[in-house]
Parts: sequence; C-alpha cells; structure tokens
Amino acid sequence: MAELRVCALYPDLMNIYADRGNLLMLRRRCAWRSIAFTLTAAGLGEPIDPDAHDLFYLGGGQDRDQRLCALDLVRTKREALHAAADRGALVLGVCGGYQLLGHRYALGGEDIPGLGLVDLETVRSDGPRLIGNVAIEVDLDGDGPRVLAGFENHAGRTHLGSGEPPLGRVLKGHGNTGDSGAEGVRRGSVIGTYLHGPLLPKNAWFADWLISAAVGAGDLAPLDDLLEDAAHAEARRAAGA
Ligand code: GLN
Repeated sequence: MAELRVCALYPDLMNIYADRGNLLMLRRRCAWRSIAFTLTAAGLGEPIDPDAHDLFYLGGGQDRDQRLCALDLVRTKREALHAAADRGALVLGVCGGYQLLGHRYALGGEDIPGLGLVDLETVRSDGPRLIGNVAIEVDLDGDGPRVLAGFENHAGRTHLGSGEPPLGRVLKGHGNTGDSGAEGVRRGSVIGTYLHGPLLPKNAWFADWLISAAVGAGDLAPLDDLLEDAAHAEARRAAGA
C-alpha cells in the first residue's frame, strides 16, 4: 500500500494562516484514495531522520518565532534536510518557512540564518507589507501552465540568486519582491512560496501533485472535487485572475 510520510517542522510555532489546513488536505486526499498517511511533528531541539519522511513541511510564522526556529533548524536539522532533499524528498516552505529555505533573512541589523537549500536571501523592508490575494502561473513538469491562487502577507522581499528558478510567474499580486514578477522558488524537490491562505485547500491539484511526487504514485485516482474546484475558482476570482 502506498504511504505518504509527512514531517511537519515546528507545527506549533510556524503555523500562521492555517498551515495546519494544508496538512489536513494531504491527509484527507490520501485517505480517500487508500494511501496511508503518517504525520510526525519535529519541534525545537528535536532531530529528524532524513530517510523517514517523504515530505517536509515548514509553514509561515511571525519574525519572532521565525528567529527561534531558524536557529534551531541550523543547529539540529540542517544536515538532515540537505540529505533528505539530496535523495529527492520534498521540502515545502510557505512564507516564513520559504524565507528560511534560503541563505538568510536580514531583519534590521540582524541576519537570521537560513538552511541554504536554495540560492536566495530575504531582506525585511521598511516599506509596506506585501499583502493580498495572489495568483501565479506555474509549470511544474513542463507539460503546460497551471494556476496557483492564495493569499500573501509578508514584510520580507525575497531575492533569488541568478539562475535560481522561481516557482511561478505572478499573474496578480506581489510575489517575491513586489516588482520582479517572480514568485517562490523551485529547485528539484525543494519548493518555496509566499502563498498561504491556505495553499492546498485552494489548489487541490497542487496537493495531488505533491502526493504523487512524494509517494511516486504516478497518476492518482480522480476525486469528486466539486467543492475544491469552487474554492480554487473563488481564490482566483479574489486575486482577479
Ligand atoms: N515574518 C515574515 C515576513 O513578514 C513571514 C510572515 C509570514 O509567514 N506570513 O516577511
């Protein structure tokens, strides 16, 4: 029986905007297809086994909680997350979690260290927070563009290293910096995005893409997605895309 093993990093601290809903979405869509689902939480000070999980999830957080988690990530989890990503396990960072996938988050005079899984850095701006509904166009497998819709709320501006591909192209909203037209990052199995809201309930197709990629299940059995499709359409409408 196929199984999706998820490790939620700091689910108590990095859980702004219902990140828990993303995990619930994965659980339900697995259950409806008889795919086993296990969820393990890893908090402050707890080491992780790079081989024991198919998907590592790091949600959004306030600057204060992000600082705590960043120091702990670097101290107790960095090597394992690099090993996991190297063997193709999925690492999904949302908003504050996305920022911590890069080299650093510069916050005033302070540099909060990142995991260095992707080539990017984030600088907290004194300018307005980038808030609102957002839609981006992504092409995850090179088989045509699809839309991810969600909500963003961040003070940080994320700058990708040259050659580091974004997750998608901003259709509506701000994205990484507000003016680059780029949103998120994708390097192999490591994905970061500012979209929460929550991300997966508004984009069931993306939840399925993650499940399929994580468990190597190929094409998943279709589900009755009447409500999910309506949620997606509404999120797109809210963003104006
Ligand atoms: N603290 C970060 C910022 O404001 C991320 C916020 C979030 O996760 N919503 O840029």
